Amino acid sequence: MKPADWLQNFSEALGRGDIGEAAALFEPGGFWRDLVAFTWNLKTCEGRAEIGAMLAATLAAAKPQSFRMQGSEWFTFETAVGRGVGHLRLRDKHAWTLLTALQELKGFEEERETGVASPPRDPYVLIVGGGQGGIALAARLKRLSVPALVVEKNERAGDSWRKRYQSLCLHDPVWYDHMPYLPFPEHWPVFSPKDRIADWLEMYARVMQLDYWGSAPCRSARFDEDRNLWEVVVERNGEPVTLRPAHLVLATGMSGFPEVPRIPGHEKAIHSSRYRDGAAWQGRRCVVVGAGTSAHDICADLVESGAAEVTMIQRAPTIVARSETLMELAWGPLYSEQAVARGITTPIADLTVASLPFRLLPSFQQPVYEEMRRRDAELYAGLEKAGFLYNFGEDGSGIHSLYLRRGAGYYIETGASRMIIEGRIRLRSGVSVEAMNERSVWLSEGEELPADLVVFATGYGSMNQWARELISPEVADRVGKVWGLGSDTKADPGPWVGELRNMWKPTQQPNLWFHGGNLMQSRHYSLYLALQLKARMEAIPTPVYYVEPVHHKA
Ligand SMILES: Cc1cc2nc3c(=O)[nH]c(=O)nc-3n(C[C@H](O)[C@H](O)[C@H](O)COP(=O)(O)OP(=O)(O)OC[C@H]3O[C@@H](n4cnc5c(N)ncnc54)[C@H](O)[C@@H]3O)c2cc1C
Repeated sequence: MKPADWLQNFSEALGRGDIGEAAALFEPGGFWRDLVAFTWNLKTCEGRAEIGAMLAATLAAAKPQSFRMQGSEWFTFETAVGRGVGHLRLRDKHAWTLLTALQELKGFEEERETGVASPPRDPYVLIVGGGQGGIALAARLKRLSVPALVVEKNERAGDSWRKRYQSLCLHDPVWYDHMPYLPFPEHWPVFSPKDRIADWLEMYARVMQLDYWGSAPCRSARFDEDRNLWEVVVERNGEPVTLRPAHLVLATGMSGFPEVPRIPGHEKAIHSSRYRDGAAWQGRRCVVVGAGTSAHDICADLVESGAAEVTMIQRAPTIVARSETLMELAWGPLYSEQAVARGITTPIADLTVASLPFRLLPSFQQPVYEEMRRRDAELYAGLEKAGFLYNFGEDGSGIHSLYLRRGAGYYIETGASRMIIEGRIRLRSGVSVEAMNERSVWLSEGEELPADLVVFATGYGSMNQWARELISPEVADRVGKVWGLGSDTKADPGPWVGELRNMWKPTQQPNLWFHGGNLMQSRHYSLYLALQLKARMEAIPTPVYYVEPVHHKA
């Protein structure tokens, strides 16, 4: 069957309200991912029964119409209140995957600026956290004329990057990293140094005329259920200011709560978030606990700075992928110079990624990592010989899956793996640190390692901790775990939920939202969050289909 014929049948079935027939146009195990168009939620329905249930609840209000193919896979459509774009993967007569994504609200399209600064008033949306997440969302809300204020505890926009270790460069290529509306110039490096990202964000916040308060930590937030407003206390110029926004967005980052194992003497170490550079450690003995991105980058930096001895302590296996190979096999088809030359714009690339249900992602990624294992056999043999524990994820689906499941546990090789193979970074693997004192650490196998510096590159706590800290433990528990898919793998307990928990979508706490992720996610999903907020501000009905029950307390 041709996609246009399928779409015609689908459109007619929906028009007649024939839910059974519409669902039967999918494979029995087919997928429909909806981004805010039908469900006012981010929701993936798996199988005909879930698709039917979703349509039964949403069809009457959504009133979908005007479906039109645009090429062989893409289509446009309208709902009662908006315009959307869709993507279809057809196998024989049935849909394997369908994406429907709202792009704009009728009568409330993005506007050209008038040049007038926002009037000072309580914002409709308060965004806590002015990293790339908060900034991207504020830019989208500005274009939709939604009064939004960003409050950031650091002095300047970009400081969350600026304050990271000096040697940090993005591991994702530039085509993946653009902010909304204002792409990086063509000469921009493929892997941007962190200070250039910081400066770009600072410039962006200014030229996009965002309402942005630096040096303004949010201290507390409370939802006033009678008035349907938040009461948020922000410190500004040393004074508490109370703001009363309708909606509160926590864009406080996934890397905000340093996680340090509570071993005896741990306070003598520093967490990787406090490491700047290796200059002070020339000729000294350094131990780095952890084997993810920060641990590798910091070890390499210490070696290059002339430390006498650098030892990485690796407790559990890490996914390692060579940057060049990843670029060619994983990023290349959608986010690369070649992709741009083939006409794959950033929105097309983002929507293509979005069109793939999370359930199917591993099966698309496993062949990439099988090929990687073949191509880079020498690297993996070298790592094995050095005693480094590596894998490709519990199901062989690599970095992208792991990132969505737990946001950590991998390294994109840009030099540190080579140093491990060459013995320039020493390694103790399969052990953990049990205790430490001023000048040494004890390993679980009983060995004592001398150390002038100990860095815990042991990652960060979950985003719910922000809700706990700023709002209350009750609200944090009501909302539950943030991030992860329920894949039933390490740090991502089941049940399967099919979307990232609580991200960019309604939560169990009215008027509380979470935003963030990498640069691509911030760019793409800020649109759907902005549309949800705009619709609420304009009193457009937003009947939410299925707010996920909470399976794991914060
Ligand atoms: C070592 C390292 C390397 C990384 N490399 C990459 C990469 O290559 N590509 C990529 O896309 N991502 C990378 N990341 C992930 C990176 O953290 C995110 O992409 C990015 O920082 C997320 O942006 P964000 O706005 O969600 O969070 P953040 O940048 O963390 O911003 C959150 C902001 O909230 C502020 N804040 C927190 N609490 C409050 C409060 N109470 N009041 C006011 N403000 C508050 C913080 O000061 C911070 O500025 C890396 C992270 C680390 C740690």
